[in-house]
Amino acid sequence: MPPKILIIGSGIAGLCTAIKAAKLAPGAEISIVNKSTPDEGATRYAQGGIAAVWSSRDSFDDHKTDTLRAGAGLCNNHAVETCVREGPLRVQELIDLGVKFTRSEGRNTYDLHREGGHSRRRILHADDLTGLEIERALLKEAGAMAGIKILDHHIAIDLITEGKLFRRRSLPGRCLGAYLLDINASRVVTSAADITILATGGAGKIYLYTSNPDVSTGDGIAMAYRAGARIANMEFIQFHPTCLFHPAARNYLVSEALRGEGAELTTLDGEKFMTRHHPMGSLAPRDIVARAIDREIKRTGDKHVLLDCRPIGAAELRSKFPNIYENCLRHGIDITTAPIPVVPAAHYTCGGVLVDENARTTIDGLYAVGETACSGLHGANRLASNSLLEAVVYAHRAASHATGAGRNPPSGDAHELPSKLPDWQSGQAVQLEEQIDIAASWLEIRTLMWNYAGIIRSNRRLERARRRLEILHDEIFADYWNFLPTRDLIELRNILTVAGLIIQSAMLRRESRGLHYSIDYPETDDVHFKHDTVL
Ligand SMILES: Cc1cc2nc3c(=O)[nH]c(=O)nc-3n(C[C@H](O)[C@H](O)[C@H](O)COP(=O)(O)OP(=O)(O)OC[C@H]3O[C@@H](n4cnc5c(N)ncnc54)[C@H](O)[C@@H]3O)c2cc1C
Repeated sequence: MPPKILIIGSGIAGLCTAIKAAKLAPGAEISIVNKSTPDEGATRYAQGGIAAVWSSRDSFDDHKTDTLRAGAGLCNNHAVETCVREGPLRVQELIDLGVKFTRSEGRNTYDLHREGGHSRRRILHADDLTGLEIERALLKEAGAMAGIKILDHHIAIDLITEGKLFRRRSLPGRCLGAYLLDINASRVVTSAADITILATGGAGKIYLYTSNPDVSTGDGIAMAYRAGARIANMEFIQFHPTCLFHPAARNYLVSEALRGEGAELTTLDGEKFMTRHHPMGSLAPRDIVARAIDREIKRTGDKHVLLDCRPIGAAELRSKFPNIYENCLRHGIDITTAPIPVVPAAHYTCGGVLVDENARTTIDGLYAVGETACSGLHGANRLASNSLLEAVVYAHRAASHATGAGRNPPSGDAHELPSKLPDWQSGQAVQLEEQIDIAASWLEIRTLMWNYAGIIRSNRRLERARRRLEILHDEIFADYWNFLPTRDLIELRNILTVAGLIIQSAMLRRESRGLHYSIDYPETDDVHFKHDTVL
């Protein structure tokens, strides 16, 4: 029997897995669900590009070395080797599917960018809208394939496992699908599946300031954790140093290239504070700049710092940065005459659902791909443009393994689904009438994570965050089952769970490494902590 596959998420990871699975297992019934519109996710906002060894001047060894250096001792060597070696094949498949990467002028090859941390030019890009182009091509392909069904505005609430079904709390057993809320119809549907694949993206929305879209609430990580899967390295959250600070501008990244051209970071009274933090001033590495801005904001009590682009010159600004110029102008900031208010913002979740080399989680029948997974590629810090790469490589591996291509299925996989899974039980739950409590709890979690579990951590701040989350946990869970599920309520439970995982992991790592920095343990401690944090 061809398998029934449920894929939760329609970003690069979910779509690539679906397309590959449909090719490898004709006849398979593949459903892709997303909780918004099909193209809404981090993928469409990716600007820089996808990293892969593409030129004769580059080598697998160089890409590996750069990735390992960024990962600060925690990368899984096998995952790095796999992604680097298989990357060019998977990128070629994207091209074959119709992704139009920017070509090098006058040469029969692609234009390769070089980004921070890369020793060679190896970033394929579609101008500065790479993710949008990839998402466009993948949605077109998936939409045209028989066997793939895409369901919008369906949010997965919880995974269904044998353990939950038969109340065997200590063992999750096999994953049998998920309960989904059809958001428009306010109805919970049961989606039974032989294989369930989490492709739900990252968790940036847990923080007050983020470059991530609204869908990035860590749902896959929270659902997997509740189901009993292992979760790894949640303390490693990458912060982008400069996001536009403006009440009407959600999630707008201000490119680091501006600093490369001469823009300076200053406090509100004009001090070029970066020279106090690093000899390279405003050109210091990303994590150092993010930390310095955080320190200044906490020291001064101001809400943001400024990025002064005027040293670049008006003509250069307009010609080299037309999108940033236009976007800021729309928010009333003329960057040729005034500095841009900026804050650092949560950008990428390095940890996630722990997976093996075939994207299998620790629960049978459950896979995780893309930003929601922790494959070991990024270790303690992600190298720029390696995330789209990880998504395509592990999508291929998940699809190949799940459909049984090129292997003998292990005996446990020959599993029959129970003839009918029980429907969702609402009990006495009623419609939620007031949104005020939910909105207040959302804001409280995001603010406390920003203030106490953000870029610079300390024992005191983490403990404070832990205690407040505990109170919120009691309040939210007292109410949760009394109300019929809504997207806001489901996401609130998930951000609460994932915030707790971040704090727990950060408290366990009593050292500073990669993206995790603690005032109380400023040194790296290889003797005790050169390992993943697995919950
Ligand atoms: C501004 C920005 C710029 C970036 N630039 C780059 C770059 O240049 N290069 C690079 O390599 N990486 C970049 N990244 C990171 C990269 O874009 C992401 O890591 C990657 O796109 C994640 O893909 P994904 O498929 O895992 O998740 P996403 O693209 O985020 O998709 C998640 C999907 O899951 C769905 N979903 C979530 N929860 C549920 C639920 N409960 N039920 C149903 N559906 C659900 C969403 O609706 C969505 O369809 C950037 C990220 C951002 C935010």
